[in-house]
Amino acid sequence: MPGVEEFPQDGDHASQQHGRKLTDRLARPLRDLRISVTDRCNFRCVYCMPREVFGRNYAFLPREDLLSFEEIERVARIAVSLGVEKLRLTGGEPLLRREIEVLIGRLAALRTPAGEPLDIALTTNGAALPAKAAGLKAAGLSRITVSLDSLDDAGFQALNDVRFPVHRVLDGIAAARTAGFETVKINTVLKRSANEDQILPLAEYFRWSPHTLRFIEYMDVGSSNGWCLDEVIPSAEVVARINARYPLEVVAPTRADQTARRWRYRDGAGEIGVISSVTGAFCGSCTRVRLSSEGKLFTCLFASSGFDLRALLRSGESDEQIAAALAGLWSRRDDRYSQLRSENTVNAAAQKETIHSRRRIEMSYIGG
Ligand code: SAM
Ligand code: SF4
Ligand code: SF4
Repeated sequence: MPGVEEFPQDGDHASQQHGRKLTDRLARPLRDLRISVTDRCNFRCVYCMPREVFGRNYAFLPREDLLSFEEIERVARIAVSLGVEKLRLTGGEPLLRREIEVLIGRLAALRTPAGEPLDIALTTNGAALPAKAAGLKAAGLSRITVSLDSLDDAGFQALNDVRFPVHRVLDGIAAARTAGFETVKINTVLKRSANEDQILPLAEYFRWSPHTLRFIEYMDVGSSNGWCLDEVIPSAEVVARINARYPLEVVAPTRADQTARRWRYRDGAGEIGVISSVTGAFCGSCTRVRLSSEGKLFTCLFASSGFDLRALLRSGESDEQIAAALAGLWSRRDDRYSQLRSENTVNAAAQKETIHSRRRIEMSYIGG
């Protein structure tokens, strides 16, 4: 279980930041809040929740430990007052959280200080989308990302490890479209031994579709997936393979904090994205804070401890005090794990002994 950071002591400094542009020690603004609404999942993806670790006896969080919808909305409102413009609901599997539509409705009613609605996205394995897509749209969800690692049914079932057939995820993507999500982002994590043969089939399947496929490098997040560098398929290789069959050209980034590098098919068949979390660290533009389902705040996906916001929320602190604590946390942030990993990767032995040996939080807990 993750550790807990001391409450920030530099509250005065934090209060001064409140209302102004809040930046961390590396001059990065706070823009995105990722909210994990549950640590549970109906899949056991081998790179995320391997069955040997997340088995029958795994102790998931008890329900009373989860933040309520009121508490999540409060954190989001305070984060928005400090500069957050984008929210992403994730998990575990966010569609397993009962009445998630009610939470989305509450978040959709929030406004930035300039009076703008927020961008509210959700990342899902897609299993529940046929039943839920229409309700999510009606509640005010802006965007959906569906994770899909293989089109080959046997390969997909081996990856999700719960015998979930791929056609039901494809049905989920279609249901999202029917519900009015015109374009869905498709996230594919590539692991050399598992689905390297799926790069071209997936590219082919989503060419000429309204959906955008994004290939993600397999990351050393958590401590249970047995990650090793040899299993990472570098984005450059993915682009080269697709380009050899369907010529690509680079698309200029539209935002400084864009994590995916975009490529478009020269024949007009749409775009793909690559997220090079391992071979092209983007810590310099990382504007994300993560809220776990039990209310711990993490300023990096690879953090080994979180800040116990739930204790503050439940101890009668005012919104201003909580804003000052959050601002203090952000203003002291200097995380850049992936960048350090890249520097250390040059010396594999050093990598093993330094950052990689640190105990890290599981992706299903912290929220992807
Ligand atoms: N259950 C939902 C899903 O799978 O979309 C949301 C949570 S999941 C943790 C969020 C994203 O993290 C998914 O797209 C998943 O593929 C990705 N992910 C999980 N483990 C990963 C790893 N070790 N490296 C890269 N991406 C990973
Ligand atoms: Fe569940 Fe998503 Fe992790 Fe797969 S990647 S085990 S669907 S949380
Ligand atoms: Fe952001 Fe941490 Fe990932 Fe770097 S390693 S991009 S700081 S979450």
